[in-house]
Order: sequence, then C-alpha cells, then structure tokens
Amino acid sequence: MKQYSEGQVKVLELLAHHDNVSLMVAPSFVVDFDYKKFVPLMKGLGFDFVCELTFGAKTVNSEYHEYISKNCMQKRFIATTCPMCVSIVKAKNPEMTKYLLPIVSPMVAMAKVLAKKFPKNKIVFLSPCTAKKIEAQNSGMVDVSLTFKEMKQLLRKEKVKPKKCSHLFDGFYNDYTKVYPLAGGLSKTLNKKGILTKSQMCAKDGCTDFTSFFNQNKDKRFFDILFCDGGCIGGNGVAAKTPVFMRKYSVLSYRKYAKTEKLGKKKGLEKYTKGIDFSKSF
Ligand code: SF4
Repeated sequence: MKQYSEGQVKVLELLAHHDNVSLMVAPSFVVDFDYKKFVPLMKGLGFDFVCELTFGAKTVNSEYHEYISKNCMQKRFIATTCPMCVSIVKAKNPEMTKYLLPIVSPMVAMAKVLAKKFPKNKIVFLSPCTAKKIEAQNSGMVDVSLTFKEMKQLLRKEKVKPKKCSHLFDGFYNDYTKVYPLAGGLSKTLNKKGILTKSQMCAKDGCTDFTSFFNQNKDKRFFDILFCDGGCIGGNGVAAKTPVFMRKYSVLSYRKYAKTEKLGKKKGLEKYTKGIDFSKSF
C-alpha cells in the first residue's frame, strides 16, 4: 500500500478540488530536479501556474536596500532570509535581534505577489528544508508546503507523466538571483550602491555559532548568514546525496542557461510589488 505524508495528501486534495493551484519553488530545486523537465512534471501533476522564488529574492534585495538607506546610522544589519538563522539569533544572541532586517523572506515576498496577482489561486511551496516549511505554514500565505524529497516521492508514487511545456517557468522570472541558495548569494546580488561597501559585508554558510562569528567580524555591517553547509543547496529537505561542490555547479549551470532564455512578459517587474507590505517584525 502506498504511504503518503500529510503534506502529500494535502497537495493531492488541493489539486483534485481546485482548478487554480500555483506552485512556487525555491531556486535550489536544481539540485534535485532537471530544470528542463521540472515545469512539465509539475504541470503533469496538475499545477496551473509554476514559478520560482527568484522574483521574491529580487524584491527582498530592493527592500533591504531601501531599509538600509533609510537607517544608515544603524551599526549592523543581519539578513533574515534563513528562518533557522533568525531562530538561533533570537534564542542565543537576543542582544542582536535589533539588527535583524525587518523584511519578509523571499518565500513570503513571492507568496504575497502571487496572492495579489491571482487572488483565487491556492499556493503550494516547494522547499529545500523543514525550517522553511514551518515558516511557510506559519506565514498564513501558503496552503501547503513540501520538501524536494517529498515532491520526488510524490511524483514516483503518482507515476506523473510530464506535460508538454516549452518554457522554464510561467512568470515572475529573474536570472541574477538564481545564486541566492548559494553561500554569499544574497550579498553578491544586493545592490550596495550608496548603502554599503564590499568590505563592510560578510557571508557565512553552515553558520551555527553566531557569537563567535559576530565577535570575529566587529568591523562588518552586513551579515549574510545561512544555516546549512553550502547554503540552501545543503538543506535537510534535499534528496540528493551529491557533494556540495556538485550542487553548486548545478545552480551555476542553471543560471547560465537561464540567461539565454527569452523572458518577454514572463519577467518579474517591480510594478507587481506596488502596494504590498513586505515588512516583518522579529
Ligand atoms: S540555509 Fe538551510 S535552513 Fe536556512 S533556509 Fe536554506 S535550507 Fe533552510
């Protein structure tokens, strides 16, 4: 008898009872899925609209830039894209909580944009880790969240056949933030002009001991921190057992390929974010 997880059952129920279900996937998906086959498989499973979080990441970058420029007297800024890091800072370094950037994660930003664009659609999130799954559930913006591992199992159990599809994603596309799941991906893509210098920034993956990290980098102002080794490509919801350097290669190859895609109207534009509140308090 086939065994399904609670999330897998919920996804199948959503797809069975709703015509319009959107799927948003973290850009680290390429460590577990062939990027050319991914959307055809998701359409084969029954999703109506499939997009990445890359536009959400671009939106977060813009929000960070605006916040830092308005609060330029603040000594330090800690990125809040990784829910595990946020939890550890709050639990182990409460004196640093005031430096957490009060902006939602790329996942929540993307869900807010989707909810505005398709108010009737249900939203499923595909994640590289259980921390993001929990964040998605607590955000109230996402109907169901699955890890990559769970989605791979679901595709096998349901014997999903790919549906013909000529493009990578349906919309809200961005190529430069495809490196977001890599260590230092945020700091590399953040527009620093007028707010920070390169030497004021530091990035760390596999970051669990913040006390030492903050103490060792007293001269830094911007902390780009990710909990997993290698960044989100090392998340506990990833099925792949390949070494981190190979996963990194998959992300970079995908970005290279994506740059050759003709995006047209599929590109994420800033007009989609107008009127949305992306702030969050910690
Ligand atoms: S670094 Fe790890 S824990 Fe943090 S969001 Fe990425 S996959 Fe999740």
